[in-house]
Amino acid sequence: MIPSAASTEPAFQADEAFARRLDSEDHLFACRRAFELPRRDGDEPVIYLCGNSLGLMPSRARQYVEEELDAWSTLGVDAHFRAKTPWYAYHEVFRETGARLVGAQAGEVVMMNSLTVNLHLMLSTFYQPNGPRFRILMDAPTFPSDLYAVQTHMQHRGIQVENGLVQVQPRTGEHCLRESDLLAMIEEEGEGISVVLLSAVNFLTGQAFDVPRITAAAQARGCIVGWDLAHAAGNMELALHDWNVDFAVWCNYKYMNAGPGAVGGCFVHQKHGRRTGLPRLAGWWGNDPKKRFRMQLEESFVPRAGADGWQVSNPPILSMAPLRASLEIFDEVGMHALRRKTLRMTPYMRFLIEQSAESGLEVITPREPDHHGCQLSLRVRENARARFEMLESAGVVADFREPDVIRVAPAPLYNTYHEVWRAARILCRA
Ligand SMILES: *Cc1c(COP(=O)(O)O)cnc(C)c1O
Repeated sequence: MIPSAASTEPAFQADEAFARRLDSEDHLFACRRAFELPRRDGDEPVIYLCGNSLGLMPSRARQYVEEELDAWSTLGVDAHFRAKTPWYAYHEVFRETGARLVGAQAGEVVMMNSLTVNLHLMLSTFYQPNGPRFRILMDAPTFPSDLYAVQTHMQHRGIQVENGLVQVQPRTGEHCLRESDLLAMIEEEGEGISVVLLSAVNFLTGQAFDVPRITAAAQARGCIVGWDLAHAAGNMELALHDWNVDFAVWCNYKYMNAGPGAVGGCFVHQKHGRRTGLPRLAGWWGNDPKKRFRMQLEESFVPRAGADGWQVSNPPILSMAPLRASLEIFDEVGMHALRRKTLRMTPYMRFLIEQSAESGLEVITPREPDHHGCQLSLRVRENARARFEMLESAGVVADFREPDVIRVAPAPLYNTYHEVWRAARILCRA
């Protein structure tokens, strides 16, 4: 990840006044007003620490969805060309903002489908087993959907999953993967590996990886390198183009706040985007836009250059509209400022938990600034589910992963230090 200037951990204090002071010094405090905050029983907002799972709704999302409903209602099919944002080219409103989000060049990012579908599309192009080079390397713990996608691609190509899949596991008794183990595996097995597919931030442990270093190491062994950014988009500062990442996929409903089942993201490096002859699963929306509506007159598929050429179907306008609201906020605030706040707020939460002698919690997320994002994963030593339920009933929204991990993710766009302070007190039963 991009090394952070704010990597020296400030000296924290555990009292409430200190939490208030951090809020008063927070330049991003006002961003909270751009979001609708869930409330219980109609009064106080809940303490929402679940933005790693489903981010909150930007107020402007409602307006953007309504605009499209109005366009549909008043223009019908003509909205494809005559709406304020013509549907025909709706995905192009993300061309610049989507690229800036992940450190890409315009044209390297397209918003389409959802994460797993995009992963399938990328594997259909980039997983080209060739003689002894037929394996896919993944990290563990692995998100099931990614694993299923990979397994089924192997089946499609007649490769036994037991032979084809290489997973690097954390060592016995450890929760996080050692990057050195991952690099050693790439070094040893690299020649047999077609695609290295890793999570930039692990969903379960919150561990962040050194994307440029691992990418370069695997490419030096001749592998294609793809990153799952489900927990990294909107969380970490990324420079996918400069890091020479081959492809990446993500969803936009977690840190990106674009709503349930939001349209996902896909990055294809320019060096591949130009190669219109690459095999892919095609559909009319990936075709040259000048020819898209010539229908039966165009019998051959000529993909548009860039990530756009991997689009298949015409885009779901109603689920793209909230993404506009979301990306506008990320573009205004910038990932750098968000990351700076994260590097204060998440260590602050860790501090509050660790200074409580009897919390019964173990923070399994790495401590080093370059190896974590917003999320802290907490292993509960005893009665994990009861602890989680206690948290819920006290108005803190977090999530629970069987058998004993509570995930909390303070989001720099809408959480306050005072909320973190209150949540930590409840968590630690102070
Ligand atoms: C959230 C998440 C997904 C979700 O996949 P969808 O296709 O968007 O439902 C996939 N992979 C990882 C690692 C995730 O964290």
